[in-house]
Amino acid sequence: MNKPPEKSHDGHGLETRLTHAGRWPEDQHGFVNTPVTRGSTVLFPTLADLQAGGQPYRYGRTGNPTTHGVETIVSDLEGAAGTVLAPSGLSAISTALWSCLNTGDELLMTDSVYQPTRKFCDGVLARFGITTRYYDPRIGAGIADLVAPNTRAIFTESPGSLTFEIQDLPAIADAVKDRGITILADNSWATPLYYRPLELGADVVVHAGTKMFIGHSDAMFGTISANEAAWPALVETHRLTGTCASPDDAFLAARGLRTLGVRMKEHQQRALLLAEWLEKQEGVTRVMHPALPAHPDHDIFMRDFSGAGSLFAFILAPGPREALAAMVDDMELFGMGFSWGGYESLILPTEPGRIRTAVPWTETGPVMRVHTGFEDIDDLKADLAAGLERYRAALG
Ligand SMILES: *Cc1c(COP(=O)(O)O)cnc(C)c1O
Repeated sequence: MNKPPEKSHDGHGLETRLTHAGRWPEDQHGFVNTPVTRGSTVLFPTLADLQAGGQPYRYGRTGNPTTHGVETIVSDLEGAAGTVLAPSGLSAISTALWSCLNTGDELLMTDSVYQPTRKFCDGVLARFGITTRYYDPRIGAGIADLVAPNTRAIFTESPGSLTFEIQDLPAIADAVKDRGITILADNSWATPLYYRPLELGADVVVHAGTKMFIGHSDAMFGTISANEAAWPALVETHRLTGTCASPDDAFLAARGLRTLGVRMKEHQQRALLLAEWLEKQEGVTRVMHPALPAHPDHDIFMRDFSGAGSLFAFILAPGPREALAAMVDDMELFGMGFSWGGYESLILPTEPGRIRTAVPWTETGPVMRVHTGFEDIDDLKADLAAGLERYRAALG
């Protein structure tokens, strides 16, 4: 793509780059932030200009200064050859998969993937003759045994949605090296501040920008970044499918990204405090947070991640639906809802057993997903403690 020259931030740390990348005050009268450029039509003064090509911006759908700023920040953070934007995380995922799969190909998909990703594969890719085979998220180098002659892509998500398995991405990448297989990673949980999939062997990284990048529960957004090898097919597919993000949402993403570093630190610290506290609560049978030493993939987490996100889960002792309702219906601070990544804490009962196919989920107690926001930690603990007490009381 044709883009304005980028200032180099080489040698600076990720937080410095997060602060300075992707904005050009000198081009906008000194104002710090790139304003929202709403627009479809871009005017060309002469026929020669119209036919020349090469201008950074030619039509609203293919980008403007606001969207270009966000692409630049995310590419810089991920160490990518380029980044394109999507109107949601799921749209980023579907665009990424379209870019590397053709009719007759097979996709290997982690069994722990975000459920709508699964539904896209089973419901849409299948219609175009692309088969999806689900694999154990903990398979590591064993992925080599699953690879068929028509395997063209492997999708990873680490930690897994709802159940927080950590994948051995370097082992997976190493096991299928030089076989023309594109490796994709959904990096929404850790963000590039804490996990760098392109450095660990992935070719394409997607983000539900809706979550940590936007950071305030006020917009839908997605990003797709690629290394040099995967970039041409990605950028072509993105363009041909008409995928684009609204400039207003791109502005909110840029604004969210500026504070991502400090937000992630607070999310990480608070989530860990809650997770450690929950480990000691009666009625909680297991806490699934990869930064806890008891987590089965803790060693891989410590090796490959430099921090943890806001989201984890815990399992309750088995109980009836009424007990679960007694717990969640009367939470005072924790909201119940899909999505995550905002400043406000959320709790969500989930049912991985209804989703998994490669590795059956055998736990029988409710799996509670927690997003830790910025309320006082003691207030959050008190809210959870009261909820757990209602749950235990309803068990009788
Ligand atoms: C929410 C989510 C998505 C999808 O993002 P949307 O913006 O809601 O489409 C993808 N992956 C993960 C891990 C998510 O949590």
